[in-house]
Amino acid sequence: MTATPSNAAQAIADLGLQPATLHLNPGVDDLYAHAIRLGEGVQAATGPLTVRTNKTGRSPKDRFIVEDEQTKENVWWEGFNVPIGADVFDRLLAKMVRHAEGGELFVQQVFAGTDPEHRIPVRMITEMAYHSLFIRNMFVRPTAEELQHFQPEWTVLNLPSFKADPAVDGTRSDTFILVNFGRKMIIAGGTQYAGENKKGIFGVLNYLLPEKGVMPMHCSANVGEDGDVALFFGLSGTGKTTLSADPSRKLIGDDEHGWTDNGVFNFEGGCYAKVINLNPEAEPAIYQTTRNYGTVLENVVLDEQGVPDLNDGSLTENTRSAYPIDQIPNIQPGSVGGIPKNVVFLTADAFGVLPPLARLSPEQMMYQFISGFTAKIPGTEEGVVDPTPTFSTCFGAPFMPRHPGEYARLLAQKVQESGAKVWLVNTGWTGGKYGEGHRMSIGHTRALINAALSGQLDDVKFVRDPFFNLEIPTEVPGVPQEVLNPRDAWQDKAAYDETAKKLARMFRENFKRFESGVDQAVTDSMPDPDKN
Ligand code: ATP
Ligand code: MN
Repeated sequence: MTATPSNAAQAIADLGLQPATLHLNPGVDDLYAHAIRLGEGVQAATGPLTVRTNKTGRSPKDRFIVEDEQTKENVWWEGFNVPIGADVFDRLLAKMVRHAEGGELFVQQVFAGTDPEHRIPVRMITEMAYHSLFIRNMFVRPTAEELQHFQPEWTVLNLPSFKADPAVDGTRSDTFILVNFGRKMIIAGGTQYAGENKKGIFGVLNYLLPEKGVMPMHCSANVGEDGDVALFFGLSGTGKTTLSADPSRKLIGDDEHGWTDNGVFNFEGGCYAKVINLNPEAEPAIYQTTRNYGTVLENVVLDEQGVPDLNDGSLTENTRSAYPIDQIPNIQPGSVGGIPKNVVFLTADAFGVLPPLARLSPEQMMYQFISGFTAKIPGTEEGVVDPTPTFSTCFGAPFMPRHPGEYARLLAQKVQESGAKVWLVNTGWTGGKYGEGHRMSIGHTRALINAALSGQLDDVKFVRDPFFNLEIPTEVPGVPQEVLNPRDAWQDKAAYDETAKKLARMFRENFKRFESGVDQAVTDSMPDPDKN
């Protein structure tokens, strides 16, 4: 069967779906018109389709994986990976089918993955026109030729207006994302946040690829003039998107990649950038996307003239711009690159005590990868002044269905075979914790990273910090000396020592549950604040 439009319509009918109107692979102009007609959003004066959503972030606790023979064995049923019965899935799907009857549905047939050997063809069925545009922007768009013979393997059905009843349906709330590997299908309801459309299917790749010896990674990637590839791992808000869009390097992708025997490939065909308080000087390329036709702006407030006000966080701090990758001026054709030469772990340390750049040994790499640290700034609650630490294995626990040890071993093997250098970069606070110090300047972070990537630090002297056991360079061109060593950046040295010890102890506490699963050398490499 080839996937001509009528075959796609047949597949929809096979699911039992009977919409009054079915839009097959609509283009950008059509999707603008439909989204505006359906009241989903408006066109900003500068061009983007601008929407508001009921949820302003992902709902990781509402994601479930159907437990079957296969997933039972292969999924790590801890943390975010929660099992649900196949019967629950089937019942919810049947209800969704009834819910969608007589309405409108939008279908996009797209690839997840730029590498023909590893990509998954996906049929994305959505109720919202803006989701359909988001999907067009964010996934890999097939050529007209590929579309002729398109054979979807996975199907996603996303109906935000369908809300589950937890008491009856067996979900946690009215929002749900259910992944069914047996049926190769994801169903979602209750949330309009578009990011769920992409994260669901990337979780599928993260599950499938390790079996083929491919390392799936929550990282951005770019490539230098002489073809050297760099990866930037990090949790949300640590700078993957920001730092991978570097004027001196070509962008491969900003969020999820696979590392094969030949190199790296992007899972996506677009980027999803945070745009709150975006500075046009520091991030010109991403800023420009908020001015382009075709972009989707999520929860960005428009001023009276209809111009996006990027400093307005009244709907959420998590305002987003979703755009096809070719809106960025210097991109790597095909969104693939060679074997990485450098691997960077980004962390936004709101305690302000981790060094802005450190070199990691292979054991420290394992340790940091399994720990997956970042720290959130304190909320607005009165009296809460301390940052909240987040430890999320593989820098992406909500998206990783397998045991973290499986991913860590695969990464260690890839790094060893390639001889890639590994770095830890703190894009968070310096000179004091959040509220006392300030955020690292993007200029300094870029200078540090570029020095590391270009090999300029190969001959520089490094010193070891006493709390985290990390190697810190003593000089980096373009970066003031006092920035390099975080202790020097704090006026109150005693406060630094105390805060650093506190964070080092948090690292140790978090790692306890992994100690039995790793080599002694890895546990030996961890922070030991009480040794000094
Ligand atoms: P997500 O996984 O949610 O997409 P991300 O890792 O891509 O997150 P970014 O979208 O790059 O994170 O967000 C980083 C934010 O921090 C941006 O708003 C950026 O302007 C800001 N920022 C401030 N200082 C720095 C710095 N030194 N390095 C990187 N980003 C910084
Ligand atoms: Mn990002």
